[in-house]
Amino acid sequence: MPDKTIRAVKGMRDLLPPETALWNFVEAAVRDVFRAYNFHEIRTPIFEETQLFARAVGEETDVVSKEMYTWEDRARAESEKGQSLTLRPENTAGTVRAYIEHKLWERGLNKLYYIGPQFRRERPQKGRYRQFYQIGAEVIGSASAGSESPARDAEVLELLATLLDRLGIENWTLQLNSVGCPNDRAAYNEALRKALEPVVTTMCTDCQRRAVTNPLRVFDCKVPADQPIIDKLPRITQYLDEPCRIHFEQVKNILKSVGVEFHENDRLVRGLDYYTRTAFEFTHGALGAQNAILGGGRYDGLSESLGGPNAPGIGFAIGEDRLVLALKESAEAVQRKPDVYIAPLGAGMDREAARLARELRRHDIIADLGDETFRLKKSFDAASKLGARFILIVGENEVKADSFALKNLSSGEQLSVPRAELAQKIQSGS
Ligand code: AMP
Repeated sequence: MPDKTIRAVKGMRDLLPPETALWNFVEAAVRDVFRAYNFHEIRTPIFEETQLFARAVGEETDVVSKEMYTWEDRARAESEKGQSLTLRPENTAGTVRAYIEHKLWERGLNKLYYIGPQFRRERPQKGRYRQFYQIGAEVIGSASAGSESPARDAEVLELLATLLDRLGIENWTLQLNSVGCPNDRAAYNEALRKALEPVVTTMCTDCQRRAVTNPLRVFDCKVPADQPIIDKLPRITQYLDEPCRIHFEQVKNILKSVGVEFHENDRLVRGLDYYTRTAFEFTHGALGAQNAILGGGRYDGLSESLGGPNAPGIGFAIGEDRLVLALKESAEAVQRKPDVYIAPLGAGMDREAARLARELRRHDIIADLGDETFRLKKSFDAASKLGARFILIVGENEVKADSFALKNLSSGEQLSVPRAELAQKIQSGS
C-alpha cells in the first residue's frame, strides 16, 4: 500500500457487514426487553464538560486520571479561557446530568436507557477498545418514589438475566456484593488502612497509591503477586450497618424467589466513586481476560454530588462489543439475504426492472438490482454471490407478456409469474 494511505486511528475499529447485522439484532432485542420493563431511551451528547466526569466518576479513578480524551475548546473571546471538554468515557454521568437539568422527575421519567459509543484511552486488546459501545440503564428518583428499594435492584438484575437469556448467551455468572454506604465506609476504610499498613510496601505502586487515596480500590488490583495479600484483607460485607445489611438480604431474597442465580463475591467493588450498596458484574467464561460483560450498581449519592436533588438510583452498563463477542449467534444467521435479484436483460430494461423493484420492495421484499448491460451469466453470478433466493429475469418478451421468469436459485425451479402474483410468490419462498 502507498505510504499515504490513511488508516483508522489506533484502538478504533470499523464495524463491517455482516457483523453489523449482529449489532442490530442485539440492539433490537435489547429495545424489546427495555420496553417490557417500561424503560425509555435517552440520548445524551458525545462530549460534556470535563468537570462532570471528574465529579461523577471521581478524580482518582483510572478512567478520569489516565483514560479520558480531554481538550480545551477554542475560547469565544481572546480574553477568555477555552472550556475543558471530554469525550464521554461512560454514560451515567451524562444521564444523571440530563435528569437534573430537565427535572425529569417532574415528568415521571425515572427509568432511562441508552445505547451508544464511549471513549477511553486504554491499551487496546481483544475485548478492549478505545471507542466501545455501551448499552446501559438507570433507575433514578426520589426515595419516596421507591427508587431506594431493594425491589429496584432485584428488578434491574432480573432484567439483565432476561436480556442475556433472550440473546442466547449461556454460562453467564452474576457476581453480587454490597459496598455499603458512607456510614460503613469510614470504619471499613480505617480497618483496611490498618490491615494494609504493614504489607503495602510489598505491593504494586498502584496499590501503594490506592492505600492512601481510596483503599477500597486495592480490590481492583490484577497483579498476581498482590492477590494473596488482598485475599487476607477485611471485607466490606463485615462492616455493613443494619439498614445496608437488610437491603442486601432483601435483594438476594427477591432474586431467589424469581429464580435468578447469583454468586456472592465480597471482593467485588466498583471502580467508580459514587457507588453505594448493591454492586454487581456479569461475567462470561468465553471472553478471556476481559471477561466482564457488564457492570453496575447503586449510586444513591450521585445526583446530590452533581448539584441535583436527593435521587437514589441504580444502573448498569453492558459492554456491547463484548456482548457481541459472546454471542453464539453467527452474523451470517441474522443477516437477511436478498429475497430476489432482478436481472434486466437488454437495452431499455433498467426502467422496467426499477419499476418491479419498487413494487416488490413495497411488500417488504429485499430486492437487489443488476444492470441492463450485464449478460445473463453475469447476473446469475452476481445473484448467487449475494445469496439471493430468486433471480427475476426482465427481458423484452417478459415485459410484453407482463409475466416474468422467476428462478429459485436453490431448487433450480423456474416459472413464468404474472406481475400481480410476483410478490406473493417470492414471499412464499417456493
Ligand atoms: P464500566 O463503565 O467500567 O463499569 O464498564 C462497564 C462495561 O463496559 C464493562 O463491563 C465492559 O463490558 C465494557 N467496557 C468497559 N471498558 C471497555 C473497553 N475499553 N472496551 C470494551 N468494553 C469496555
